[in-house]
Amino acid sequence: MSESLGNIVDAKIKYRDDLQKIVTQLNGEIDYAEKQKRSAERERIYPLAELLHDVFCRYDHGDQCGWGYEGNNWDAAEHVRWVDIAERLLEGIKRIQYDKPTESDIIGALKFAIDNKQKMALLDTIKTFAK
Ligand SMILES: [Zn+2]
Repeated sequence: MSESLGNIVDAKIKYRDDLQKIVTQLNGEIDYAEKQKRSAERERIYPLAELLHDVFCRYDHGDQCGWGYEGNNWDAAEHVRWVDIAERLLEGIKRIQYDKPTESDIIGALKFAIDNKQKMALLDTIKTFAK
């Protein structure tokens, strides 16, 4: 093999290695951005999760439900559980509506219903979606 062909091979190997470093870095950046995106989507649901917990949690907050002990930690078990319930409720409501209500529309409607003493009907609805 001539020296110039050897140089071409070396150059291509270096080029390939540089590209692999860029791909590795991009994959890391994409993973990070996807996590940020998922986290932002979940954060939008926090007010609804808090409302649902405040209204519907039946457990004793001294020794059965950890919501209060968890503080504002949305990665803790009770907070995750109520965010999941809120997510399912939103998905269920969006499926049955033609006008694709926003989270704040739904929170407003739920607050209205709660204020108007329709709590038990809402509880039955949530039980259906939370299965
Ligand atoms: Zn609770």
